[in-house]
Amino acid sequence: MSDNKIPYKIYLEENEMPTQWYNVRADMKKKPEPLLNPATGKPMGHADLAPVFCDELIEQELDDVTPYIDIPEEIIRFYKMYRPSPLVRAYFLEEKLQTPAKIYYKFEGNNTSGSHKLNSAIAQAYYAKKQGLKGVTTETGAGQWGTALSMACTYFGLDCKVYMVKVSYEQKPFRREVMRTYGASVVPSPSETTEVGRKILAEHPGTTGSLGCAISEAVEVATKTEGYRYVLGSVLNQVLLHQSIIGLETKIALDKYGIRPDIIIGCAGGGSNLGGLISPFMGEKLRGEADYRIIAVEPASCPSFTRGKFAYDFCDTGMICPLAKMYTLGSGFIPSANHAGGLRFHGMSPVLSQLYHDGYMEAVSVEQTSVFEAAEMFARAEGTLPAPESSHAIRAAIDEALKCKEIGEEKTIVFGLTGTGYFDLTAYAKYNDGEMTDYIPTDAELEESFAKLPKVE
Ligand SMILES: *Cc1c(COP(=O)(O)O)cnc(C)c1O
Repeated sequence: MSDNKIPYKIYLEENEMPTQWYNVRADMKKKPEPLLNPATGKPMGHADLAPVFCDELIEQELDDVTPYIDIPEEIIRFYKMYRPSPLVRAYFLEEKLQTPAKIYYKFEGNNTSGSHKLNSAIAQAYYAKKQGLKGVTTETGAGQWGTALSMACTYFGLDCKVYMVKVSYEQKPFRREVMRTYGASVVPSPSETTEVGRKILAEHPGTTGSLGCAISEAVEVATKTEGYRYVLGSVLNQVLLHQSIIGLETKIALDKYGIRPDIIIGCAGGGSNLGGLISPFMGEKLRGEADYRIIAVEPASCPSFTRGKFAYDFCDTGMICPLAKMYTLGSGFIPSANHAGGLRFHGMSPVLSQLYHDGYMEAVSVEQTSVFEAAEMFARAEGTLPAPESSHAIRAAIDEALKCKEIGEEKTIVFGLTGTGYFDLTAYAKYNDGEMTDYIPTDAELEESFAKLPKVE
């Protein structure tokens, strides 16, 4: 199809929308390793996970064989409120770069929570409601996940208790207020409301908290409160499954115009948006039907794929959550104050970790200032102010497009633009004031963290 027939934005009609999620694990020859019980070292089955997670979500977590899973009607209905998300041809960016490459991005920031996280939040709230639960608990750092979950819970009339890292609670009041507007209770963590919170406060008075500590509090409340379970916004297999809606929509839109991508790029924090975007393409690759270059982009300050170890590790700093086999920097690794809050997790999705380990995808790490240069260029060219997390993918897409220019190749690049940058203006201020720094951990720092990895045979 000639280029000028391709619209700036490709939308789908309602009757073209996916009605099933795609489970990429079904097509993986080497499946991701199971979660292990930290107390026994044994794989965790349904019964082990049931006190913490919702029943049907556990089924999805453990299902490595079913390729397609029906999206329940109620979730399809909710998706219609803000989906399909647009697939945009970045004509203006291409012009600015003077590249022969064709660049597309899938924009997930067009809902009030401002990111892709709502795709899984609504699914998790639905299954909690279906199980007859009263509410769910979770943690949030910068607040994207808590915001998405509060929107989803209020829709199904569920109570939502969010443990928000204290420093964010105090310094990032805007997402906190969105959560409260949607009816969630937001508690700064560590708090006096839990045993683990009181213990941490006694040991470290005046601490501003951490994600690991907030997870520990949220899990404690979920397991000790009748009718509550804990939910998580990334890393887990079930979250990648729900996020496959991103990739499925992208594939339908591209197929509609006969467009075949050469390179697919996404930022990687816990791996959920990237896993979702690439799922149907990776499926074709695994089945030998097509080939794509797939690139994960991570911050140089938190380089799980590019410098981490593929090992069993805790998902939380409190060491109470199950052990997952993943690329990790060690659960005790605290990344430097990078402005892409959503990319500061020490580990990576076990599905993506296995795929990366088996050579099905690549990874690059990029430094913060070069990420904001890319964000600024993108904002000025395409009109959308990107989230710092998403801007990691922009950086890599621009770099690939510039390579195409150098060698005169007309590659098609698709990247995930996961969110809007409206709540990240403090980070933009640092960049605009020339005060942004790049911090890259030393080998010695990483070795120190690897030495504390749990010993698992
Ligand atoms: C949370 C978040 C991410 C990173 O999380 P993944 O699970 O790796 O997708 C990326 N972008 C935005 C806007 C986010 O909120």
